[in-house]
Amino acid sequence: MAEKITLAHGSGGKASHELIEKFFVAGFGSKSLVAMEDSAVLTVGNETIAFSTDSFVVDPIFFPGGDIGSLAIHGTVNDLAMRGAKPLYISVGMIIEEGFAFKDLETIVRSLKDGADKAGVEIVTGDTKVVQSGKADKIFINTSGIGLLDKELDISAQNGRVGDKIILSGTMADHGATILCQREGLQIQGDFKSDSAPLNHMVAAMIKEIGEAIHVLRDPTRGGVGTTLNELAGSSGVGIRIKEAALPVRDDVKGACELLGLDPLYLANEGKLLAFVAPDAAESLLAVMKKIEYGENACIIGEVVAEHRGQVVLDTIIGSARMVDMLHGEPLPRIC
Ligand code: MG
Repeated sequence: MAEKITLAHGSGGKASHELIEKFFVAGFGSKSLVAMEDSAVLTVGNETIAFSTDSFVVDPIFFPGGDIGSLAIHGTVNDLAMRGAKPLYISVGMIIEEGFAFKDLETIVRSLKDGADKAGVEIVTGDTKVVQSGKADKIFINTSGIGLLDKELDISAQNGRVGDKIILSGTMADHGATILCQREGLQIQGDFKSDSAPLNHMVAAMIKEIGEAIHVLRDPTRGGVGTTLNELAGSSGVGIRIKEAALPVRDDVKGACELLGLDPLYLANEGKLLAFVAPDAAESLLAVMKKIEYGENACIIGEVVAEHRGQVVLDTIIGSARMVDMLHGEPLPRIC
């Protein structure tokens, strides 16, 4: 590992994982950190809760489909929902650069509140710091959240089983492509819009439909579907096989990726989830998801296999097969 932090350490890909393992898991050593889940599951008195935290440094702070405020709520709400928890309470910490306009702060506060209302969570505590002009870029936000968990549920990155069907809740790479086009001022034809959204209501409906037949949930944010599937293959100790022809990508997003030489498998999503579910429950779950907001384009993209454990293999459109590795390097810093 290099002697200093590089942008790749914030990519959510291979370098991030090495950093987390070398410094944070080794340094803090708690059992829930070792599990590398989206949120920690803890016992408090008689209740089981999920607890998660996330920081947002997205650039630009306003983009089609949302802003840093809505993104900060959705990110934490979704990380709680990915353990099957019902998100309840959120904290908001802000680091603001001197000179930041009140008008922009007002917009962001409104987005935080609207996001919280839509997700059904309450913002209950916060913190504000201001740094000198040039010492931060406009505004950074940290959100932490607590959710309540049904003890009977055991949804975890470690629970993927051979035979599970892998469902993706909608199109890939919408957030990553939107931020990229916006930031670089690219004049690419298309209706780019971030998919940033709260997924907790969809998860609740999914649990109601098939309950324990859901083994794994994860939102493929930084690093995209490709990196997330690698994490899940590793955590569950299984192989993953996906079909290129089944991967949902909007035409304009696909076009932008081709133009820029980026693979939509590695671009961030902020309103999508991957679910590993028992094969006999997959079709009924899919039917339910398709009727729910944010799940209209849900589809089965592959399955869990006994071969090539810890690895992801893609069956390409032209009939070959290739390995899908974790994201290397950092093509798009500050995507969320
Ligand atoms: Mg996540």
